[in-house]
Amino acid sequence: MHAATPWQAVDERSDRLPGPSVRAIYTAKAAAIATILLLMWLIKLFVFRDVPAVRYSIIITPGLLATLAVVAWRGEALVWLLAASFAADITAVTVGIHFGGGVDNISGPVLYALVIVLVGLVLSEGAAYVAAAGSSILYGLLVWAEQCRLLAHQVPYSKPADDAAATVILVSVYLFLAAWVVSYAARQIRAIYQRAERMRSEAVSALSHDLKSPLSIIHGYAEMADAATPTDRADYLRRIQHAAQQALDLVHNVLDATAIEERSIVPKVEPVRLNDLVQQVFDLYQLAAEGKEIQLTAARASDLPVLDADPQLLSRAIGNLVSNAIKYTDRGGTVRIATAWQERDVTVTVEDNGYGIPAEDLTRIFQKYSRSGSRRVEGTGLGLYIVRCIAAAHGGSVRVTSEVGKGSTFSLALPIHPRGC
Ligand code: ADP
Repeated sequence: MHAATPWQAVDERSDRLPGPSVRAIYTAKAAAIATILLLMWLIKLFVFRDVPAVRYSIIITPGLLATLAVVAWRGEALVWLLAASFAADITAVTVGIHFGGGVDNISGPVLYALVIVLVGLVLSEGAAYVAAAGSSILYGLLVWAEQCRLLAHQVPYSKPADDAAATVILVSVYLFLAAWVVSYAARQIRAIYQRAERMRSEAVSALSHDLKSPLSIIHGYAEMADAATPTDRADYLRRIQHAAQQALDLVHNVLDATAIEERSIVPKVEPVRLNDLVQQVFDLYQLAAEGKEIQLTAARASDLPVLDADPQLLSRAIGNLVSNAIKYTDRGGTVRIATAWQERDVTVTVEDNGYGIPAEDLTRIFQKYSRSGSRRVEGTGLGLYIVRCIAAAHGGSVRVTSEVGKGSTFSLALPIHPRGC
């Protein structure tokens, strides 16, 4: 078995946020620190000789080395190395505050907050609070030491704070607030990510389940066809054709959704006679409707103008609406496809008297992997998402009206001459 490297161990923690890997974050951090060092030396050499570049290099370098160590590390216990690197950062910020004006240095608490945000994103929410506590303690000790003159002031204009306790309390509250904000944000992002992951894995298992039934139908009837009478064989072949269509629909939807994820749809536009397309879809799904004793009808408007569209994408969209209507309607129901046109738009309407959709789900169902309904009908939640993407790619839209227990009507509206596709 392939053993996980420590990088994977941190990257694949169940609660780690999506996004760049720890190594990518640390490479960027090392580059940022090195750039600051370089700029400081350039300023000292060519612009402002008084910059205490040596002192600040000594303060910053341990943090840079710890960061580079994290980037280069291949061994065990990466989490501890990360913790050590954060400790080095917080110490460097504290020493930097001391040499940069003590309590008068207001950029120090901002740097603490940056470290806390990074801890929250890379390690965990709890670690962000630990970093806030550590920063507050170090800051408090520094202010106290300056107050008691244990540490001399390094900047001529700065002086011990008159209100040291209030300053420390204020900075601590600010740092804990930063920890709270980062942990709240991390929780929200994680919840969205986990929901998307859950929906994706449900869709994958639904797809495998959905594919199983048409494939076993094909397998079963193909075996029976050998010994069957010619009449039975013709019937079996029709059933096989229907099951193959079901399986193809499923695979197409998954492939389309993946393709949409990678690049947006670019329709290959050509003149399309919508009524002919509807007839093809009708023929394709008639068998499925017959199988459920559903009455499938098509009302084609006369004088329908020829429209500019991608026929393959359009038949996929209409096919998804019709297959849904059949899928979500009980035996003996009706599904009606109708075409119409008005000024610059054509419309395909698919109406059924099936289960209907609760009002609160009507917008959600067009989102990827989104499903609705308490009845256990298998599905991937991709069909309507693809319909919406295809409609949008043609400059059109898809709408739904529905009532639970009465049925649903989906309308796909498309401009006759879409602009820009
Ligand atoms: P899937 O059918 O694979 O679940 P879709 O994206 O095609 O995915 O549909 C999303 C949801 O919308 C379905 O889970 C179903 O609850 C609901 N839905 C779609 N079409 C209809 C319809 N004609 N009647 C009732 N519900 C429907």
